[in-house]
Amino acid sequence: MTQSAAELYEAWSRKSLEHALSEVPGYASWRALDPGPHTPIDARYAALPTLTKQALRDHFPHGFIPGNRDFDQGMASGEIELAQTSGSTEDRVTLIFHSPWWEASEQASWQLNRHARLLATGSHPEAVLASPLCVGPGYAPHPQAMKTRILGRHLYLNEKINPATWTSGDIRRMADELASYQPVVLEADPAYLSFFARRALALNLELYQPRLIFLTYSFPSRLYHRRIRSAFSAPIASSYGSTETGHVFLQCEAGRLHQNVAHCRVDFQPWAPRWNRPDHGRMLVTVFHNPWFSVLRFDIGDIACLDTRGPCPCGRRDGLTLSSIAGRTKDVTFTPEGLPVTVDDLDDALSGIEGLEGWQLDHLQPAAYHLRLLHEGQKNLTLPQHCRERLAAVYGPAAVITVEPGDALKHEPSGKFRFARTFFPVDHDALWRNRP
Ligand SMILES: [Zn+2]
Repeated sequence: MTQSAAELYEAWSRKSLEHALSEVPGYASWRALDPGPHTPIDARYAALPTLTKQALRDHFPHGFIPGNRDFDQGMASGEIELAQTSGSTEDRVTLIFHSPWWEASEQASWQLNRHARLLATGSHPEAVLASPLCVGPGYAPHPQAMKTRILGRHLYLNEKINPATWTSGDIRRMADELASYQPVVLEADPAYLSFFARRALALNLELYQPRLIFLTYSFPSRLYHRRIRSAFSAPIASSYGSTETGHVFLQCEAGRLHQNVAHCRVDFQPWAPRWNRPDHGRMLVTVFHNPWFSVLRFDIGDIACLDTRGPCPCGRRDGLTLSSIAGRTKDVTFTPEGLPVTVDDLDDALSGIEGLEGWQLDHLQPAAYHLRLLHEGQKNLTLPQHCRERLAAVYGPAAVITVEPGDALKHEPSGKFRFARTFFPVDHDALWRNRP
């Protein structure tokens, strides 16, 4: 970081910590753990616990509102609203959402990508393609007119929870709406946009081309990326964050993810040394400027992979640089010998396979794995065998691997797709413990 950027980052880090500990009731029990103002700021942060979704739930609604704010007044004036995160049922959380804060965090992130900086003005038209349970005016069981799906500068294209249920009529309608709305930016869940691209190509539709595509909401599989690239020519950038934290990383034009240092602090906690992957770890996010909702050391639940290739060619040096987000922590599976395998490891192993459109892995028992695969066009008889071989190389000779070709993947209640699921108790905290 330049000296002034580093000083600002440190000042915001200090202010956020001291404000949370002194003004926010949910952190009352943390106060005694703070070594105090004469200790370097990184050490003060390191001495504190992490904020969990469970704590957010336990202290709702007043726990994380600063003492000088009034929840009822904020709701009545419309300054805040309630937002539900789009996790699966057991980790859904209701949050206090302050729109100006969210928009400021988004605008700050645009500085991290050359195309976004040029094209995103804050008033530019944008189309969104994702689960209607994650974003937009809300799910409606019957088709809604296009104008009822436009909120502000955003058009929400999709109305269905599973893209496998899209009809050809749905694909044509969304293509027509894109052409008439002419968004500068298209923001999409990569699974949804990949399905849309595949179906639109099969229908020989000529697609309107936005000038920039943001992928967000879920892991951007290489297979989805490839399919999206076959239909769209715009630059593609991954945007990473959450409802709790706002916009935390944006992928630059050179393909690396840069931290949104004007908006948040990120503490990286590497996996324990015994795993021999010091570039892998979790992210604890502290939000700098949300007057209504104090977020300190929130474990955002994904695995970050630090970029170790040296300075990014784009020239940005501030904060952390990641080569990728490697998937959800709870989607980390283990080999029969107990070695961790991330969603990114699996995607890397499977993505070179010709004809594969998508995948999902169920880890059924410690040595039993079941892969659902989505194939391109006609049934390809060699595809399951190729997939089995790649997975055997990842999980080793003791793994029992079954493969099931199909037309659809299984979605979560929110409409999002998880890449890996485990069907027996797994202690993911072991990734940060150096003893078995
Ligand atoms: Zn860069």
